[in-house]
Amino acid sequence: MIDELLDFNRSFVEQKGYEPYLTTKYPDKRIAIVTCMDTRLVELLLAALGLKNGDVKMIKNAGGVITHPFGSAMRSLMVAIYELGVEEIMIIGHTDCGAQHLNYEDMLEHMRERGISQDHLDMIEYCNVDLRTWLSGFDNGEDAVRRSVHLVKHHPLVPQEGITVRGFIINSVTGEVSEVKDCD
Ligand SMILES: [Zn+2]
Repeated sequence: MIDELLDFNRSFVEQKGYEPYLTTKYPDKRIAIVTCMDTRLVELLLAALGLKNGDVKMIKNAGGVITHPFGSAMRSLMVAIYELGVEEIMIIGHTDCGAQHLNYEDMLEHMRERGISQDHLDMIEYCNVDLRTWLSGFDNGEDAVRRSVHLVKHHPLVPQEGITVRGFIINSVTGEVSEVKDCD
């Protein structure tokens, strides 16, 4: 599959398919979006918000959540705020998210089926990694958005002036975006 993509890529570049996408690394709309890696959102989210290449910084992971105050999603927001001029942050969860109801026991079972040994699992726990917390999903999509918004808003390295953080849920089918209430 990847080789097919690379074949396509050669003619894309040859035919200057990149020309409509030329832009800079600075987000024209001064917005960063944290959202889910869900396949349904790849084009839908941009289309539903009228966004094009160059408009926003896009940070994606499973669930569109900020799980750790000093993890990679938060680090990306630091870069977006301090180096790339971002002033507004949207945390966008979505309906029917795969990270919702993610079951740690099931994933553990899948790992064992794929040859991950108990020794390795024990070793990781021994290094003070709480696998259950790390690999668990969330029950309620809106609450997950609220937690992420809260974490960013009250992060000690996020300036209290000049940064707006708001939470939303996008409908994975229609693209309708609704604001999550009581975010703080
Ligand atoms: Zn999702």
